[in-house]
Amino acid sequence: MEFCEYCGNLLNDDGRCPWDECPRNAIIDAIAEAKKADEQKDKTAENKTNNNG
Ligand SMILES: [Zn+2]
Repeated sequence: MEFCEYCGNLLNDDGRCPWDECPRNAIIDAIAEAKKADEQKDKTAENKTNNNG
């Protein structure tokens, strides 16, 4: 069991805070979106491997 470092609520099973407006959730969402963007970047990068020669 883990507690939110921002508001002290008991975290959900998926690591999110039960308080929708908690900064923790905003950070988790931002990280998830950054990861998604990275994955898409990797996919497009495969098509142009030597662009900087
Ligand atoms: Zn919280």
